[in-house]
Amino acid sequence: MDEKFDTIIIGAGLSGLFCGSYLTKKGQKVCIIEKNREIGGAIQPFTRKNEWFDTGMHYFGAVNDGQIQNELFKIFGINNDFEIKNIDNFKFWHNGKEYNIPVGYDKYKAQLLLYFPKEKKAIEIYISKLKEITGNITIKNILKGFEYSSDHNTGIYNFVRSITENKELQDVLTFNNMLYGGERDKSSVYIHSVINGSFLQSTGFFKNGSIDFLESVKNKIKSLGGIFVNSKKVDKLDLKNGKINCCITEDGSKYFANNYISTLHPKLTLDLTDTKLIKKFYRKRISELKNTKSTFLIYVLMKENSFLYQESPLFSSETNNVWDLYNSYLFQTPISGKKGKYARQVKIMTEMSFEDVENMLGQSSKKRTSEYLMFKKQRAEEIFNSIENKFPGFKNCIETYYTSSPLTYLHYTGTIKGSSYGIINDFNHPIRSMLPIRTKIKNLFLSGQNINFHGMLGVSITALMTCNTVLENE
Ligand SMILES: Cc1cc2nc3c(=O)[nH]c(=O)nc-3n(C[C@H](O)[C@H](O)[C@H](O)COP(=O)(O)OP(=O)(O)OC[C@H]3O[C@@H](n4cnc5c(N)ncnc54)[C@H](O)[C@@H]3O)c2cc1C
Repeated sequence: MDEKFDTIIIGAGLSGLFCGSYLTKKGQKVCIIEKNREIGGAIQPFTRKNEWFDTGMHYFGAVNDGQIQNELFKIFGINNDFEIKNIDNFKFWHNGKEYNIPVGYDKYKAQLLLYFPKEKKAIEIYISKLKEITGNITIKNILKGFEYSSDHNTGIYNFVRSITENKELQDVLTFNNMLYGGERDKSSVYIHSVINGSFLQSTGFFKNGSIDFLESVKNKIKSLGGIFVNSKKVDKLDLKNGKINCCITEDGSKYFANNYISTLHPKLTLDLTDTKLIKKFYRKRISELKNTKSTFLIYVLMKENSFLYQESPLFSSETNNVWDLYNSYLFQTPISGKKGKYARQVKIMTEMSFEDVENMLGQSSKKRTSEYLMFKKQRAEEIFNSIENKFPGFKNCIETYYTSSPLTYLHYTGTIKGSSYGIINDFNHPIRSMLPIRTKIKNLFLSGQNINFHGMLGVSITALMTCNTVLENE
């Protein structure tokens, strides 16, 4: 393409879309290049039997007026383009007992005090930590840049143990580890608090599914002159005089811009360049960073009028260890499949390591298919059996189901080992996993879930920081 853009964005996942919205709103000529036919990356939905299934976006926090996610949507200029519906409660199913976890700090505190009347002090310390950390996430601080704090180098597991000896309360406080791929010996107080703290402020989801969100944001970007180039994988960043001259896609097409934002994992971004500006030890350091594990997701189509729609998402941890995410699951009946009082869809998410399916990657496609299908079927059946403990008769309501594994994520989003949330915020090495937006290449900037943190909030924050750095560079 001969046209020269102000900014080229690599990847049309959430990050690419937020950067695209903001920069076009600021009057920039933007081009977003995506390797897949469809946009969305980790949140790209799919259809089966006339039903839309959402993938990597269950819900997100701090969505109400005056709260940070809501403010960020406004700054990107997309707040009026899609509808958000609130969630009032979560459920936590643990050791055969169901806990109600209300959204909203006051209700949350009152409910926990009913379950644990002797633990007032611990509950108050926990809540004030969440409020302190999320309270620091303001537009002003995002633009200024966050300061490193001791919450980055303290483990959440140790923190909850330091405030209470009550094992049951420790488990209830960390019920939603799955939302950040929690690892007992790695996850920091910081990452836990931004996720749980923002969800406790308010929680919402796309009322009309991810497709509505994606279509409206895409249309907004296009209406402001932004261009989408789909089904083109960026293969190389070509340098001239220490700057990127153009990016080249697999088919040899060249795209020119003043600035480039990569939303890919930093290792994959660096792999696109062979310049000496990026030192070998830095490449090694980035490639050795640990990533969160992947996910096994089951998309169930239920028989008509057989299974009740559940207002509250349910986290289940059936072993005595809430950090054992292989034996935990998140169970949700998406609103897109709500038919009267019944659920047509159920979505079940659990953790899976890439290593569990790795050996099915390199074999011939035929062998891989049967072995892989069998593996996925067995795992799904195990999870269904476990769900029977909570919802007796569940299996009888299943019409059919579809699954995705680490291989699916590897294929669709191209994340390393199909990692769900990218680089781990490891409290043992906090500085190592904090990556700057600027690179040694003057007109190449990083964004996406690997910088700061993942999810709707993490990706929005980083997109704003990246775009401001790009605009400063102009
Ligand atoms: C199963 C699952 C459930 C989740 N649930 C939630 C949730 O409930 N709430 C929440 O807030 N977050 C959730 N997340 C996290 C959230 O979806 C991600 O953090 C976020 O979508 C990441 O966006 P991104 O743009 O950084 O990356 P991606 O979505 O990975 O986007 C990167 C894009 O780049 C494209 N790409 C890759 N390589 C190239 C190349 N060489 N050339 C061109 N394009 C390329 C990819 O195809 C992709 O579209 C979930 C994630 C998963 C996997």
